[in-house]
Amino acid sequence: MHMTPEPSFRASVDLMFKRATQFMNLSPGLEEKIRVCNSTYTVRFGVRLRGKIETFTGYRSVHSEHMEPVKGGIRFATNVNQDEVEALAALMTYKCALVGTPFGGSKGGLSIDPRAWEEHELEQITRRFAYELIKRDLIHPAQNVPAPDMGTGEREMAWIADQYQRMNTTDINHRACVTGKPLNSGGIRGRVEATGRGVQYALHEFFRHPADLARAGLQGGLEGKRVIVQGLGNVGYHAAKFLSEEDGAKVIAVIERDGAVIDERGLDIQALKEWVTQNGGVKGYPGTSYVEAGAEVLEHACDILIPAALEGVIHKGNAARIRAPLIIEAANGPVTYGADEILRAKGTIVIPDLYANAGGVTVSYFEWVKNLSHMRFGRMQRRAEEAHSRMLVEELERLSADRGLGWELRPDFKERFLTGSDELALVRSGLDDTMRTTYQAMRAIWHGRPEVGDLRTAAYVFAIDRVARTYRSKGL
Ligand code: GLU
Repeated sequence: MHMTPEPSFRASVDLMFKRATQFMNLSPGLEEKIRVCNSTYTVRFGVRLRGKIETFTGYRSVHSEHMEPVKGGIRFATNVNQDEVEALAALMTYKCALVGTPFGGSKGGLSIDPRAWEEHELEQITRRFAYELIKRDLIHPAQNVPAPDMGTGEREMAWIADQYQRMNTTDINHRACVTGKPLNSGGIRGRVEATGRGVQYALHEFFRHPADLARAGLQGGLEGKRVIVQGLGNVGYHAAKFLSEEDGAKVIAVIERDGAVIDERGLDIQALKEWVTQNGGVKGYPGTSYVEAGAEVLEHACDILIPAALEGVIHKGNAARIRAPLIIEAANGPVTYGADEILRAKGTIVIPDLYANAGGVTVSYFEWVKNLSHMRFGRMQRRAEEAHSRMLVEELERLSADRGLGWELRPDFKERFLTGSDELALVRSGLDDTMRTTYQAMRAIWHGRPEVGDLRTAAYVFAIDRVARTYRSKGL
């Protein structure tokens, strides 16, 4: 795909790691221990399908067990391979450490084209893959907890959860063996939207710091900002939807598998998503101009570029031509190490993947805790909270009436104030807090240690330091 040779994905992540550790005081031994991938399990299994045995290859890589369980999604895609799974597992270690979810890093993948199989066939394949991993404790509530990733979603997680339960009938915590489940299998409200929501919260926080905005040559708020999104999957769709519908940003182009559609007035993301679902691509979406060579649209002028699809899409071959002053990495690894150096040199601000897309694993953490507590968040306190609010409202109304003050609370204020936090509100609150505080920790390093130079390196410095502390406290 690229004209200029570049290191592999895993090597690219290692180079980013090394760029950060040069600013840290780690012993070479500890640095190496943190960097390397602990283990990668490869399994080849057969499933009888359409009258013959089909062999599939799957992986589960564990990058770091400094905390357990280890966490990370399972990807279904044809190009899944060991190098990629290991890179993604390493990113999970740094991501979890950065946002403070108490997990080590892992990732899984199955080399498969999910579109090539019927639902019942996919179920058989998924259950068989899960069986192989469960047998080896590579899916386990206390040891390794997968989640959705590219090509997988709630449906696959429900199959995996059920498979685990069948094989561990007396494990009272069986539901915590995987996250991203549908609600009726022990999922949590807000998990599906979580990664896209996290991207939105990350941008909100970035825009709260005029000094950071200025570094990107931007000013003002998100309203009217021109956004280009690559990938209208779960992450890209939700990010684009929230930014356009709630923040007034204009999504001027969406790049998909079959090309890109452009509308400078701003696309209706909901309508476009429905079009893509029905037609299998963006081509032909009314009222827009279509570009078959979608990747070229990454280079179009805009304020914010959101790669939300594959790794390596911004590479040495196109990095110099990227015009967006701000890139937020909703995908894992969309910018190669070589491209990152080019972008840094020309002053492009990159909000890095390990932070930008951490909303998914953050809400996975909430789901895992919910499963272990066996209770929905808010169940105990919601009505108590409402009763407290009601006391205040009634007291204000009494005061007003007794003293003839004629005060009247706005009905919408009253309604909102009297509504206690349900699970979704609590999940969003926890996610927002995580995205805000993590950004502040990153920017403190970015601004406080000029030699570090950029947000990505700052994120790595912060994350690696946390992992190192855990190792040291264990006496390593
Ligand atoms: N696959 C997602 C990621 O790359 C989510 C992982 C998780 O929730 O464990 O971060």
